Amino acid sequence: MPELPEVETVKRGLATALEGRVLARVLCRTAKLRRPVPPDFAARLSGRRLLRLRRRAKYIIAEFDDGTAMLLHLGMSGRMTISAAAPAQFDKHDHLIFMAEGGPVVCFNDARRFGVVDLSTTATIDAHPLLAALGPEPLGNHFNGPVLAAGLRGRGTAIKPLLLDQRLVAGIGNIYASEALFRAGISPRRKGGSVTGGRADRLAVAIREVLEAAIRAGGASLRDHVQPNGELGYFQHAFQVYGRTGEACVNAGCGRPIQRLVQTGRTTFFCSNCQR
Ligand SMILES: [Zn+2]
Repeated sequence: MPELPEVETVKRGLATALEGRVLARVLCRTAKLRRPVPPDFAARLSGRRLLRLRRRAKYIIAEFDDGTAMLLHLGMSGRMTISAAAPAQFDKHDHLIFMAEGGPVVCFNDARRFGVVDLSTTATIDAHPLLAALGPEPLGNHFNGPVLAAGLRGRGTAIKPLLLDQRLVAGIGNIYASEALFRAGISPRRKGGSVTGGRADRLAVAIREVLEAAIRAGGASLRDHVQPNGELGYFQHAFQVYGRTGEACVNAGCGRPIQRLVQTGRTTFFCSNCQR
């Protein structure tokens, strides 16, 4: 499942291909993904100039010259590909196709159909039901230690599952929750309400750092090896604890084995020596 850094990388790739361009032709080849696709989707976007692409949590927002805004979520398996021209034949899971005037063709392929696409307006998109309840953007100016501590105040639940609550902070998935807690030296089992003061500051900084490092890796993947199929956003990234059960902790002077734990159905990786 794409996490925030992958979505940011996809957004940047799409911006390079489509920002400022007129979508000469838009095809919609399905009536429903996770939710119904607006029936006039293709008609409303065809002929429109795409002014700006931005990201909110794991949603991509495209703003058009007539005030229309498109909301897109990649779901579990959604993929975006860019090609120089439309293929002779589309794949059966190529649901949305955006053909830019005199330029690239962007295709949204989603075999499992957990993706979401909707239309709104640039003026009202942030109040969309899927976006309205989201907490602060972890890379934005309104997220820091005191904001995080305020969201955690009085919470008796363990910090790790709380980090996955999109109302606390938007866009943190399972991988980066483990990575951020490791970097901050905080046990995934610590009660959320006890993450205050300097500890909350460290965690807010760690969240930002792990996401930014992954986005840099994603940016490098775009520059260095554009995949032959033009696919955006999936890249290899080295994790410090995620998926490393039994391997030695990377912290200097530690070297104890990384442990694995299941919390509210999600796997957590951590070092019991370095995280308290
Ligand atoms: Zn350790």
